[in-house]
Amino acid sequence: MHQFNLVLLGPPGAGKGTQAGRIVAEYGIPHISTGDILRAAVKNQTALGLEAKKYMDAGELVPDSVVIGIVKDRLQESDTQRGFLMDGFPRTIPQAEALDEALQGLGRAITKVIVLLVDEEILVKRLTGRRICRSCQTPYHVMFTPPEQEGVCDKCGGELYQRDDDTEATVRNRLAVYRKQTEPLIEYYDRSGVVVRIDGAQEAEKVFEDIREALGPA
Ligand code: ADP
Ligand code: ADP
Ligand code: ZN
Repeated sequence: MHQFNLVLLGPPGAGKGTQAGRIVAEYGIPHISTGDILRAAVKNQTALGLEAKKYMDAGELVPDSVVIGIVKDRLQESDTQRGFLMDGFPRTIPQAEALDEALQGLGRAITKVIVLLVDEEILVKRLTGRRICRSCQTPYHVMFTPPEQEGVCDKCGGELYQRDDDTEATVRNRLAVYRKQTEPLIEYYDRSGVVVRIDGAQEAEKVFEDIREALGPA
């Protein structure tokens, strides 16, 4: 059976969450966002959440061992049989190696890595104006993609909020962390020929068309 074992890669604000919603709807695969999983843990004040919060508020990465454990557990669930969309994971070379190893153990491999490319000044504008639905995590933007009714999610009626780490200072640090620790993954995955580069500065609908063209039919 043809699998869609996908990684969505790109700097904070590139549109990963926005495109993830469209991709999982089209391809019928689960959306695995380590950021969403960590924010839920922070909200529920679990041991994981208490450990992760200090890193997240500073715009630093949560330790590899913590996120690798989360993803390995998630891959054991039966809804990942046809594939999955990783969003925000892997973010370091050790995370990518651990993912390859875990998949190998399951007789699988990454089939495509979708890289969203966007200039830094656009990213800062996107992130500082971002709002997220508390219930379904859909991202909006106060200027670029506002909801029909201010503060309310179009999809589920949930309340929109601003993430603690979407402030200009933290955003700048997250972008620096991306360049140093995550960008080298593009070269890592280039070696296995699975990378597709997409112009993420285009309108969201056009970005999705390019992704769909690269992935082929569901
Ligand atoms: P964005 O959508 O802006 O790229 P995420 O929601 O993916 O941000 O991540 C928010 C924060 O959660 C990160 O700044 C980091 O602290 C933590 N985080 C998420 N995924 C990972 C990961 N794979 N490794 C380490 N930290 C992570
Ligand atoms: P990421 O998950 O990569 O951090 P998001 O999908 O949350 O990125 O998008 C970041 C912000 O930019 C959100 O406010 C979102 O509404 C907005 N956005 C996403 N894609 C586009 C686009 N193609 N054009 C304009 N704004 C966008
Ligand atoms: Zn919602």
